[in-house]
Amino acid sequence: MNEALLQFIWQHSLYNPAGLQTVAGEPVIIIYSGRINRDAGPDFLEAKVKVGQTILVGNVELHNRSSDWLRHGHQNDTAYQNLILHAVFENDVAEVAANTPTIVLKNHISEKIMETYARLIKTTNKLPCAGQHTFVKDITKESWLSRLLAERWEQKLSDWNVLLENSAEDWRNLLYWRMAANFGFKTNAAPFLMLAQSLQLNIPTRHKDNLLQLEALFFGQAGMLNGDFIDDYPRELQREYEYLKKKYKLRQIPEGLWKFLRMRPVNFPSVRIAQFAALVHKSLHLFSQIIETHSVKEITPLLEVKASSYWDTHFRFDVLQEQKSPKTLGKSSIENIIINTIAPIQFLYAARQDTSILQELALLLLENVPAEENVITRLWEENNWPAANAAQSQALLQLYNNYCSKKRCLECTIGLNIIRMQ
Ligand code: SF4
Repeated sequence: MNEALLQFIWQHSLYNPAGLQTVAGEPVIIIYSGRINRDAGPDFLEAKVKVGQTILVGNVELHNRSSDWLRHGHQNDTAYQNLILHAVFENDVAEVAANTPTIVLKNHISEKIMETYARLIKTTNKLPCAGQHTFVKDITKESWLSRLLAERWEQKLSDWNVLLENSAEDWRNLLYWRMAANFGFKTNAAPFLMLAQSLQLNIPTRHKDNLLQLEALFFGQAGMLNGDFIDDYPRELQREYEYLKKKYKLRQIPEGLWKFLRMRPVNFPSVRIAQFAALVHKSLHLFSQIIETHSVKEITPLLEVKASSYWDTHFRFDVLQEQKSPKTLGKSSIENIIINTIAPIQFLYAARQDTSILQELALLLLENVPAEENVITRLWEENNWPAANAAQSQALLQLYNNYCSKKRCLECTIGLNIIRMQ
């Protein structure tokens, strides 16, 4: 037994309540287990129990062994002076909590619960509950996935709220920064965000009708126009950038931040920057369009961009490709942007406006995007829990990264149901 499991058993009333009694022999009925306390102090607050003929309301402390009371120094701590109950798994030292009724739970807890928990915690399987979660009802799984998605967005959007505050609540700026980070995808998200933050939105907006100037601004600020070039195109960008740099007193970010290694050439940051410049060039009022549009079919054309013609034959400056290939933003990249930027920004905007209908629409948008395909979603699929859409794949990513991989099965609805079945 460990204390986390004992707390879990107490919280969800997974013990057998028949014949519970204090070590002094008084009968005990647990009317309400109490509210779990994650802060300092007793484990459960505001519990309600009947000891003998007396109903008590107050705090409960749980321990694996009664001697833990002394080991934790509770005898000298005023926070533990007014407990209504001390619940222990084993009573190895008698009467440690003076004036507090003590109950021993060992004979009220099924061994199967402990065995199931041990299996979940000790397995080396990447998915500790593989083979067991299939017994959990679909409706339970679906509601857990909805909560996980909400949790994922809450974590993600708290950072976005800070960005929004830093930009004087300018939503166009937030969209510009997050969209840029998204164009960097996982590997180059950070330098892409730095790039956008190094170039205030009003500057590219002023030059949005001139694609060459936009490219000069973004490539120049990215530090990718330093050095000598052979091709006319980067040389022309260099000249434009020199002029714009002086005009706006710009300071570029270090070129060394960009990662090209182990990437498919089509995802090289050079290609992505050219596509991002094309998006800024194309998009008139992108923020209002994105906020007002809730169908994948209508959003997709807004994001369908192609890098300028130089990039049809290049992945990097001065390196000619063998075969021509236009660098359009592909379907999966567009879906990735809807999942990671558009749906969350719509949700945040709706939350700030306190509009639940718009929040629902943002969630619905995600449900209409196909599930992501990656190592984690494949793992779920191999274990009979395929994601039906992007809302579910996002929730399953959250579940794996924040619960399964950290063995937080006791905090997971699936874990609770698996243990409850015992
Ligand atoms: S955290 Fe939940 S879903 Fe993940 S392995 Fe544990 S019980 Fe299964």
